[in-house]
Amino acid sequence: MQRTTLRVGLGHDTHRLGEGGPLVLGGIEIPHDRHAIGHSDADVLLHALTDALLGAAALGDIGELFPDTAAENRGRCSKEMLRLAYDRVRAAGFGVVNVDCVVFAQRPKLGPHKRRIQETIAELLAVPASQIGVKAKTGELVGPVGREEAIMAECVAVVERLETADDKAA
Ligand code: MG
Repeated sequence: MQRTTLRVGLGHDTHRLGEGGPLVLGGIEIPHDRHAIGHSDADVLLHALTDALLGAAALGDIGELFPDTAAENRGRCSKEMLRLAYDRVRAAGFGVVNVDCVVFAQRPKLGPHKRRIQETIAELLAVPASQIGVKAKTGELVGPVGREEAIMAECVAVVERLETADDKAA
């Protein structure tokens, strides 16, 4: 029987926006007049990515791993949560192939920041930046994104089964 070696995961996240910056997004701080509100540092992009990776390995979701009822998760760095979640994914026998992300934000313009976000995510996952897609859309001035009440992100992640010593011997 042929083993399945590739798996895909999907992640989505939404956070409310409040007055005052900076905006933490994709592991970086972006100068802005609004910030995402949340129990952790409210990095909507890293949360969606974390869920996509966990989902690809069928390991549950970020809320199960880091409950917002736990004091140690208050203000927690999403980069650390992503690293810990990806450690679980690797321990389950999977390594990331590529990820693709979309951020939905009316403002700020993310064009000038996308490269740094891409490089930050690549570094966190220890893969080349060419394996990380980062895209941005506005809310066309309608809905919670367009009215700058919320910021959202969606992400898909493809992982492959890591070859073990047993596989090589087989
Ligand atoms: Mg979140």
